[in-house]
Amino acid sequence: MTFDFQAHRAHDYLYLARRWKSLARRANLRCESFGTSDEYELLCVRSPALEAKEGIYLSAGIHGDEPASTEGLYLWAQLNLKYLRRLPLFMLPCLNPWGLIHNRRVDADGRDLNRSYHLDNVPEIKAHKEVLKGYSFSFSMCLHEDYDAQGVYLYEVRHRGSADRPIGLELLTAAGYYVPVDLRRKIEGRKALQGSIKRRIRHKQFPVMPEAAYLAFNHSPHTITFETPSEYELGARVQAHAAAIQRAVEIVLG
Ligand SMILES: [Zn+2]
Repeated sequence: MTFDFQAHRAHDYLYLARRWKSLARRANLRCESFGTSDEYELLCVRSPALEAKEGIYLSAGIHGDEPASTEGLYLWAQLNLKYLRRLPLFMLPCLNPWGLIHNRRVDADGRDLNRSYHLDNVPEIKAHKEVLKGYSFSFSMCLHEDYDAQGVYLYEVRHRGSADRPIGLELLTAAGYYVPVDLRRKIEGRKALQGSIKRRIRHKQFPVMPEAAYLAFNHSPHTITFETPSEYELGARVQAHAAAIQRAVEIVLG
C-alpha cells in the first residue's frame, strides 16, 4: 500500500483539501465547507455513523506551523479508509488554512485561534461553534505540535465522575513507537507523568479559551490535546499522530 504523504507539500492547504474531498468520496463520508478563513474554505468531514451523541471528534491544524497534525489525521483516515463510514466520526482536517500555508501559528489577522474561543467576533471561531451545535461527543482529540517539546506528550481532561478511564498513557505508548515520549517531570509548567498531564478544569481558569477547553465545557466529557515535538523528523511525527488517534479510537469504541 502506498500513501500520498509528501513532506514538501505538508503546507499546501489546497492539496490537503483535495485529498480530503477525494478520501471522503471514496469512503462515503460527508465533506462540507462550514465557513471560510481568509479566502480558504474550512472543511468538516462527518461519517454516516455519526449521531448527535457519542461521536468521536478529531481536529487538526489550528496552529499552522504544526503540519504533522494535519498530515497525521489524514494518514490515519487513509489507513482506515474501509472502516471510516462505520465509525461515528466528526473530523476537522485543518482549522487554520492560512496559517498552514504560511507556516504560522496565527491566522491571517495575527490571531492565535486556539486562544479565541471566549470571543464572539472571530469568523472562524463563530463558524466552528456553529457547526458543533447539538453535538455531544464521547471523546475529543485536538492535534498539535510543540517546538520545544522533547518528545510526544499530551493533556487529558475528564469530567468529574466521567465513566471513561484515563487513556493518555496508552496513546503515548502507541505514539512512542515512532517518536520518544517526553519524560520531563514538568512540561509547560505543569506536572507530567511519562508525558501525560492530567487537568481538571474550571471556567474561571479560562478567561482566554483554547479549543480543547471549549469542547470540555460544552461538548465533550473526555478531551485530549496531543503534542509532537516539531524539531523531530516530520514523517515520524505524522506516524505518531496517526498511531495515537488509532489507539484512542480503539479504546473509546471498545
Ligand atoms: Zn498548537
